[in-house]
Amino acid sequence: MKKSFYASLENELEKIREEGLFKEERFIASPQKTRVELANGSSVLNFCANDYLGLANNLDVKKAASESVEKDGFGMASVRFICGTNDKHRQLEEKLSSFLGYEDCILYVACFDANGGLFEPLFDENDAIISDALNHASIIDGIRLCKAKRFRYEHSNMSDLKRCLEEAKEQGARHKIIVSDGVFSMDGTYAKLDEICSLANEYEALVMIDDCHATGFVGSNGRGTSEHFGIKDGVDILTGTLGKALGGASGGFVCANKSVVELLKQKSRPYLFSNALSPSIVSATMKALEIVEGEPDRRQRIYENSKYFRGEMKKLGFEILGTDHPIVPVMLGDAKVAQHMSKKLLENGIYAVGFFYPVVPKNKARIRLQINSEHTKEELDKVIDTFKKVGEELNLL
Ligand SMILES: *Cc1c(COP(=O)(O)O)cnc(C)c1O
Repeated sequence: MKKSFYASLENELEKIREEGLFKEERFIASPQKTRVELANGSSVLNFCANDYLGLANNLDVKKAASESVEKDGFGMASVRFICGTNDKHRQLEEKLSSFLGYEDCILYVACFDANGGLFEPLFDENDAIISDALNHASIIDGIRLCKAKRFRYEHSNMSDLKRCLEEAKEQGARHKIIVSDGVFSMDGTYAKLDEICSLANEYEALVMIDDCHATGFVGSNGRGTSEHFGIKDGVDILTGTLGKALGGASGGFVCANKSVVELLKQKSRPYLFSNALSPSIVSATMKALEIVEGEPDRRQRIYENSKYFRGEMKKLGFEILGTDHPIVPVMLGDAKVAQHMSKKLLENGIYAVGFFYPVVPKNKARIRLQINSEHTKEELDKVIDTFKKVGEELNLL
């Protein structure tokens, strides 16, 4: 019995390899920054970190973390409601709610948990959850754990969203909620939040947005997708991560009104049954938020870099998705081509990973680059030149 179990796993792994879908891990032997050392001793330009504001190795952020380790210890060794709450947890929740414009906030150890634990306490079989087809895996899992009726609309297709809202209404759903990523992480595109909010208004639905690739740098003050669209009070529930622009360690949150947050604190399973966030991460994230508010030039540099890079890559003839977001997907189609290209780029000193099924749809493989505020013009030019060289070698241009 055991033998056949392990044999079937080996079979499956072999199939993944044959299809060119096997994901290798590479080892980084330096802190996360624009240039990283790999375990084999080479030094490469890094274009695949979520470190949009360059805070993962920022001196002040690191100092806040190490001072907190000294003062508060290493870990809480408890869940929040037992003996895992430090005054800093509450301060960060208050800071995030006031920065993002909500009544209250609840921290999780990851946004995956925030999304995973969000729906089940708030919605049941009388309700309808209407979700974009390309939403993040954690949203999909969170919805699966909830008994509400599920509706899925074609990615960013507003007439299909309207169809779902109509159906939910006809079926007499008590409460309806539209759920979407704020920025789609594989495409670097924004949800059509203006249209989503006006449909939500029309159908009296709530709106939930996951702003993992927006919090801290999208919008004029870094408040995210709502601010990008100039929308106030349209998004009822906002989730986000501390593991990307806000220092890059880990942690997630839900911002919403008090009753939502209070109920999550009573009933949300990843909150009730998982350890509290380390105080050092909490302290470092507070510092990261101070930097977000105090150094708007970082945000500005992201968009200058992104605009320049996107423009030059298009001139070379590459197909690039999105408009101005620092996630820049270079579309290649075939998974093997994307893997090969990524390997060639690495040999030429550029670290940028290929994405393919199941992370993106079949035959939509791509190299996804992520620009940050600390990339220099020279570094961007080096990537552009290398893409030209490798693209010509592989007959892609
Ligand atoms: C990264 C990401 C998550 C998961 O965040 P973690 O804090 O790393 O668990 C959830 N949703 C989206 C859209 C993401 O991009």
